[in-house]
Amino acid sequence: MIEVLMPFSMLKYGIRSKHRPFLDIPPTPDLKKSYDVVIIGGGGHGLAAAYYLANTHGITNVAILEKGYLAGGNTARNTTTVRSNYMTAASISFYKEALSLFETMSHDLGFNIMFSQRGQLTLAHSDATMRSFHLRAEMGKHMGTRIEVVDTHTVKDLCPHLNMDVGGHHEVLGGLWHADGGTARHDAVAWGYAKRASEKGVEIHQRTEVTGFKASGDKVTHVNTNRGQIKAGHILQAAGGLNGQIAELAGVRLPIRCFPLQAMVTQPLKPFLNTLLSSANMHTYLVQSSRGEVVIGGGSDPYQLASTRSTFDQKEHLAEGAVHLFPFLHNVKVLRQWAGITDMTPDYSPIMGSSPLQNYWLDCGWGTWGFKATPASGKRMAEIIATGRVPDILKPFSLERFEKFELLNEMGATAASH
Ligand code: FAD
Repeated sequence: MIEVLMPFSMLKYGIRSKHRPFLDIPPTPDLKKSYDVVIIGGGGHGLAAAYYLANTHGITNVAILEKGYLAGGNTARNTTTVRSNYMTAASISFYKEALSLFETMSHDLGFNIMFSQRGQLTLAHSDATMRSFHLRAEMGKHMGTRIEVVDTHTVKDLCPHLNMDVGGHHEVLGGLWHADGGTARHDAVAWGYAKRASEKGVEIHQRTEVTGFKASGDKVTHVNTNRGQIKAGHILQAAGGLNGQIAELAGVRLPIRCFPLQAMVTQPLKPFLNTLLSSANMHTYLVQSSRGEVVIGGGSDPYQLASTRSTFDQKEHLAEGAVHLFPFLHNVKVLRQWAGITDMTPDYSPIMGSSPLQNYWLDCGWGTWGFKATPASGKRMAEIIATGRVPDILKPFSLERFEKFELLNEMGATAASH
């Protein structure tokens, strides 16, 4: 019966000219001549900054310019890990703030972001890794993070189906357990911020590409787009993998290189993995989604490229790691594989704050780890634009740190679990 009726109901909607699709975000309006703030990039970071500008600071004459579709960059390509188990005090404080905003985000936005705080377990397969875990755990505890080094019995309790000798190559010696870690639905985070920002008057312009800038002295006065030129009071650059190229258009040189990062997802399985699981030594991490699919990721591709193609090499590498950890995955089908372009800095930490141009603000260098930062970077970048002051929590992430050689080395904490 249903099979017979379905085409008729679809036809009814298809031919009814007055049928209004359910829209969370208003359609792209005409561009105005001038905005107080222009945000480049309609990913999570740009959308969150717009929301906090409008909601917290009452600045609503804001345009988000997105060359593709909303969140179609790395925001919709990431593997949704959120955590605060970093190495340096500056990073831990910042990601802790982000995590606390994730904890209340569904309520704050009135939009279900499917936050699941199930903890993250990172495996150690060598004494050197165990030593680095002790250092990381002590640092985290000192900063008030829920983090501890655990032995093999606890690893087994947390992850009963794990193959502890990992194919004989990488026997598990212990782990780093971060009870605060979890996942949040990436599209929902973007759509939640987009919906609430646009309700406050922020304009979201999809298929609107920034092509250049007009400057006067050390101030950018206008932004050029494929839909015309607009005047801008402030500009926030949050362009994901293309951050280096956009900054160059404004005459700003950033220490950023692009590397592809790939991930893949299997067919759905019954629940068997209740934590986020990661192995830095094997460059593999796994998380089971709420649909039962196993999301598998690893390290960046080893060459610089601004491309979103996925490769067989990486599929083989990710599959090998996953099967060593869980041998019963050997005959599971891979449903999808994809890639994003990541904007990597030399110290694996982001750049947030001012640029050599007076009214041009940077939110970039998010590489393979920036989804978890979305609410805190949005909130703090909005604060900078609204007040003109860089809050203490962002000061260590300035562009000048590269000149002063005050680097924030987070390579060990970001390499394989993002
Ligand atoms: P994006 O979401 O990339 O948004 C930038 C937007 O700018 C894009 O939509 C783009 O189209 C637009 N844009 C670019 N150029 C222009 C232009 N000229 N004009 C107008 N618009 C322009 N992070 C984590 O924290 N946890 C993870 O588990 C994780 N996993 C990842 C897995 C993969 C496979 C990838 C690729 C990334 C992962 N990341 C992860 C990193 C994370 O996705 C990014 O750091 C984060 O999404 C960056 O958000 P954004 O808003 O800055 O950038």
